Amino acid sequence: MSMILSSKNQKQLPVVAIRDGLIYPKTEAPLIFGRQKTVKAFEDAVKAKKELIVLLQKDPRVDDPTDRDLYTIGVLVSIERFVSLEQGELQVLLKGVKKINVLDFTANDPYLQATYEEIPDVEVDTEEVRAIMRHLFAQLKKAINLGKNIDFVALMGLFSDLSPNDFSYQVAAVLDLKPVEKQDLLEESDVKKRLEEEVEFLTKETAVLELERKINQKTQQKFEKGMRENVLREKMKAIETELGEDKEDKEIGEYRSKIKSAKMPKAIEEKILKELERMQKMSQYNPESSYVRTYLDWIVTLPWSKMSDSDISIKDAEKILNEDHFGLKKIKERILEYLAVMKLREQESSTEKGVKQLKPPTILCFVGPPGVGKTSLGRSIARSLNRKFAKISLGGIRDEAEIRGHRRTYVGAMPGRIIQAIKQVQTKNPVFMLDEIDKIGHDFRGDPSSALLEALDPEQNHAFSDHYLEVEFDLSDVMFITTANILDTIPPALLDRLEVIHFPGYTEDEKFAIEKNYLIPKQMEAHGLKKYDFKITDEASRLIIHRYTREAGVRELERQIAAVCRKVARIITEKAKKKPKVLQTKMIDGKAVESYLGPYKYSSQVAEKEDEIGMSTGLAWTQVGGEILFIEVSIVPGKGSLMLTGKLGDVMKESCQAALTYVRSRWKEFGLQEKFYQKIDIHVHVPEGAVPKDGPSAGIAITTALISALTKIPVKRDVAMTGEITLRGRVLEIGGIKEKVIAAHRAGIHTIIMPKENKKDLIELPDKTVSDLKFVYVDHMDQVVEVAIMKKKGKFPNVK
Ligand code: ADP
Repeated sequence: MSMILSSKNQKQLPVVAIRDGLIYPKTEAPLIFGRQKTVKAFEDAVKAKKELIVLLQKDPRVDDPTDRDLYTIGVLVSIERFVSLEQGELQVLLKGVKKINVLDFTANDPYLQATYEEIPDVEVDTEEVRAIMRHLFAQLKKAINLGKNIDFVALMGLFSDLSPNDFSYQVAAVLDLKPVEKQDLLEESDVKKRLEEEVEFLTKETAVLELERKINQKTQQKFEKGMRENVLREKMKAIETELGEDKEDKEIGEYRSKIKSAKMPKAIEEKILKELERMQKMSQYNPESSYVRTYLDWIVTLPWSKMSDSDISIKDAEKILNEDHFGLKKIKERILEYLAVMKLREQESSTEKGVKQLKPPTILCFVGPPGVGKTSLGRSIARSLNRKFAKISLGGIRDEAEIRGHRRTYVGAMPGRIIQAIKQVQTKNPVFMLDEIDKIGHDFRGDPSSALLEALDPEQNHAFSDHYLEVEFDLSDVMFITTANILDTIPPALLDRLEVIHFPGYTEDEKFAIEKNYLIPKQMEAHGLKKYDFKITDEASRLIIHRYTREAGVRELERQIAAVCRKVARIITEKAKKKPKVLQTKMIDGKAVESYLGPYKYSSQVAEKEDEIGMSTGLAWTQVGGEILFIEVSIVPGKGSLMLTGKLGDVMKESCQAALTYVRSRWKEFGLQEKFYQKIDIHVHVPEGAVPKDGPSAGIAITTALISALTKIPVKRDVAMTGEITLRGRVLEIGGIKEKVIAAHRAGIHTIIMPKENKKDLIELPDKTVSDLKFVYVDHMDQVVEVAIMKKKGKFPNVK
């Protein structure tokens, strides 16, 4: 009852929500309102007592706040001025009257209304409070000096004699605070505390202002310094011109003489001198002038007419090639023939035109697995011709600009790799090796192989155009040699220009000889071990080849020898008291090698394994040389499907189909039931599944494994086979015989079954390899079965 009574007696006023400003008692603030509800509240208030309540929103983002969105402690304000603006907005001047606490919200529409009670401010006017006020005042003046913006009226208010509470509200009104902080100050009932909080806020604000000022000063200083320098530079330039010592002219003069001494073709020289003139006209501070300078630097350092004097004597060349490389007899012969032709041409052209010209007949392409000496033979050729050696690797290049350069307008532009390499060797007739041309790619950025073609083509390469240089460079004196692992991926147009020389890989004996005579001495010297007279025994050398490497070339072998040398070097330098026996005897034997290199990395692939049903040994030819591979066939009950796994390519899949068709046509001979395939599933798998495999040459190996799996008779593991099979069981010629034979020999195979037509390919193999192995030449699958499958008493089990 009393509640209702009291609420009836309590006064009620319209409430206006504000998003971020706050009006404190005894302060004035001009504000603009736009929300419909607010405008309505003002209109009604103006008609009544010109008073209303201002409450701060807890979250300024709320558009139509209700009682829950507002703080309940606020300020009762009087409306001093009231102007309606366009678009329904109001401009009002409000003056804070007193702090109030909302008791109850009594209406929400058309605007909020509330009952309230006053929160009287308790004055505490002590010496201490006055001291804080003085401090605050001084602080404020400092802030104003530092650039704090304060409304003039508010400032004047501060100068009048105010009570501590009123003073604190005036200060609060001018502080740069967040809404919540403003509300906190309003809610603080203890005036001393309120003043202290204000001191804190103001100190922070002044600190920020000071910092800002410092930064401003610094930037100002920098700016002034820059201006000053520019002015001075201009003055200096003027003085220099007056005295006739233009520094820029000096630079231009230097470039001019460099251009002259670069001995470039006349037409190009003229063009470059024009470029120099263009630079002369530019201000030194024009950023473009630095690009032109870089360009000129490139141009003047290119070997326009510098040549190594290469007078070739074929005899000397032969000597040098033999010095650097073991074996490779046929290859060396081929190279010497090539050099001889080059020499003849040279004589011809020098008598004809009186100019010395060395135009290579065609371009050599060394093809073979890694580590067989392609690069080092290239180096050796350069040495034997007394020319410089340059090399770029084309592996993975997809962008034409890598070869031909970027246009000069491109940021960070540079010449392409060919010109870069030419600059590096500083002669225009180096032996230039283009490595991995089989790995060159192409995409939307242009086709690098077309740029390469231009460089290699004797018809065009006297005027090779690099995008960056813009002028043509003569590459016709360069002797290009290319290398590749395989031929298949070389673009046909390019392959057309090349004279291919195959490097098949080394046999074990060749490796042994290379190791003893070349790699070990080379590595000993490289590791500073030459003066220590120790030896690696033959047994140890062979052990490294067998158990620590499996490759066609000798690169890994060289690495393992380097590892042994490192260990030895360490033992020597440590001079351990208990020197290992090996060093006392200065002999490194198998045991020592094992202790240096750790457990064997490879086991013998064949010799130590047993014959198995459904598994045959095939021969493959990959980018890294020949390889033996095992083909597994497994038979399970099923419905006649053929399953293939191990990343087999399409051609290999077709071989599997052909194998099955052949076996089906011979069911009787193999002692199988007529429709044997209808009740089984056949699964063909070639291990090392991650490596993609393709090609027809596994045909007879797949067929053999299939027959073995179906008849349950094992295949001889040490018989390796290669050959394509037709539906009728004929065996056709295949490629890569040399590499395959070398790999089989390495793996410990005793017998190789191969197509009759491939017999001719054996000629190029070392005699020892051929005599170590037994070769069976076949033209039909039946012959393969005879040799590879271990029939009992020459019969298949179920043959009646
Ligand atoms: P590729 O270019 O074919 O990958 P490298 O030219 O890099 O191979 O040869 C690898 C290493 O083997 C080199 O140190 C090279 O000198 C050496 N080497 C290769 N073949 C022979 C050889 N017939 N005689 C001597 N050293 C060889």
